[in-house]
Amino acid sequence: MKVTASSNHLFQLTHLGAINCYLVREEDGFTLIDTAWPRSQAQAIMREANKLGLPIVRIVLTHAHIDHVGSLDALHVALPHVPVAISEREARLLSGDLSLDPSEPQDKKPGAYPCKTNPTLLLHEGDRIGSLEVVATPGHSPGHVAFLDTRDRSLVAGDAFQTLGGVAVSGTIKPLFPLPALSGWHKGLSLQSAHKLLALQPSLLAVGHGRVLTNPEAEMEHAIHVMEQSLAKEERKQPHVA
Ligand SMILES: [Zn+2]
Repeated sequence: MKVTASSNHLFQLTHLGAINCYLVREEDGFTLIDTAWPRSQAQAIMREANKLGLPIVRIVLTHAHIDHVGSLDALHVALPHVPVAISEREARLLSGDLSLDPSEPQDKKPGAYPCKTNPTLLLHEGDRIGSLEVVATPGHSPGHVAFLDTRDRSLVAGDAFQTLGGVAVSGTIKPLFPLPALSGWHKGLSLQSAHKLLALQPSLLAVGHGRVLTNPEAEMEHAIHVMEQSLAKEERKQPHVA
C-alpha cells in the first residue's frame, strides 16, 4: 500500500493505485476510515498504522461497497475490541438487506458487500466520532456518509466525489475510472449531497478513488456544474406525457 501524508492528521493508504482508505490521527490512536479490498489488505493496513506509530482504535465506514468494507471482517477478527461504526441506513446493506424504504427513490437497487461483522455504533447526521463529524450524503448509496475533521475542516467524502480520472460527483462517468459512477445508486441525491459537501467549505477533499485535493472548492463546483448539465440533458430526453 502506498501511504501519503495529506495533513498533520490524515494519511491516505492506496491499494493498486485506485482504492483509498484513510488513517486519521487522534490523541488515543488512529481512526480508520474504510477498509479497502477484501482479505490481504487487513494486514497491510495494520502494518502501515504500526509504522506510523499508533494503534487503530476505531473503524468507521462511508458505505458498504466491496472496495470500502472489503477487509472489514478480517480487521474485526484481528482487532475484535475496536468499535466499528457505520450509518444506521447503511448497516442494513452491510448485513445483506438490499431492500429500499418506501420514501427512497425506487429506480435502482443499491449494491452492497455483505459482511459478518456487526457494527457496534450506528451513525446519524451530526454525530461526532473522535474529531470527525458525520455528514449524511446519500446518493452513491442510500446511507452513504462523509466525515468532516472539525480540527481543520478536512473532508473525507468516500465516493460522493472521485478525483481519479478527473474530479467528478458520483454518477458522472469518467472513462478512465468509471467504477464509482457504475456502482452508484441515485444521481439526483448524489448531486444534492455534493452541494451539501461544498457548502461545508472544506479545506481539503479526500475521496475513495484518486488523489487528495487541497483548497478543493473550485474543482468541486466545476464537477457539480458538469453533473447538473448532464442531469438536465437526461431530463430533456425523458418522454413528456401530455
Ligand atoms: Zn468506491
